[in-house]
Amino acid sequence: MAPRHDRPQTEQYGRPAHAAIELRAVQRSYGRGGETVHALRGVDLALGHGSFTAVMGPSGSGKSTFLQCAAGLDRPSSGEVYLGGEEITRLSENRLTKLRRSRIGFIFQSFNLLPSLTVLQNVLLPQRLAGERQDRSRAKELLGQVGLGEHGGRRPGQLSGGQQQRVAIARALITRPDVVFADEPTGALDTRTAHEVLGLLRHAVDAMGATVVMVTHDPVAASVADRVVFLADGALAGELHRPDPKTVADRMVSLATRPVGAAA
Ligand code: ADP
Ligand code: MG
Repeated sequence: MAPRHDRPQTEQYGRPAHAAIELRAVQRSYGRGGETVHALRGVDLALGHGSFTAVMGPSGSGKSTFLQCAAGLDRPSSGEVYLGGEEITRLSENRLTKLRRSRIGFIFQSFNLLPSLTVLQNVLLPQRLAGERQDRSRAKELLGQVGLGEHGGRRPGQLSGGQQQRVAIARALITRPDVVFADEPTGALDTRTAHEVLGLLRHAVDAMGATVVMVTHDPVAASVADRVVFLADGALAGELHRPDPKTVADRMVSLATRPVGAAA
């Protein structure tokens, strides 16, 4: 049976029956002098636990705004965001910061590791910031899973770009977050290293039950996801399930060349 929009998802893997992340009618506008920019024009999207979603769209289509609103780094102008069934849109700044630290993982294009900390300390940092017990054995296990079991005592500067991004993946998973948001995670990596990093994200979803949302420009990267959602002019403009790179690339070309303001 097809899932109904007005009902939570079917219970899976003993988890609660709501989406890992859900956006309802999310709008975000920016005032710019007398002018208003509509970065998001009413986005409705629910992503299940254990799913891997890629978000694509032309430059300026609202991808970063989407990610920031979904991850509680920015507040929608209207609409709601639910994380693990909890409405986060109206939380105080304080509560939102706490929630981000314990329930959301981030992976950035530029890795964003702290150079003065060891690899192991970097992986433990989210727990430290969240005021949780620092689980060294879990951190070591995660480092092993990303192939860096022997590198916990090194500094990020002693690692290659691909290795640093693997540390960032371990760091993003340490708190067992509801959702891991990745913003162009392979944008700074060569093709082969990018492939390894994508394989690890895939592994995190398939073997570790993680939920990943990844913004990318790369159709090959997007095709590692279960589902690709496209944004254009701040609105959803279709999606692909079990995508292949060629179909994703064709869709991107048609989005980039369609007239501004055309219907999705
Ligand atoms: P993308 O990541 O897809 O390139 P963005 O989410 O960064 O798109 O931007 C969507 C639209 O919102 C663009 O027109 C951009 O110029 C505008 N925008 C984004 N952030 C701001 C901001 N802080 N102030 C004003 N306009 C913004
Ligand atoms: Mg952007």
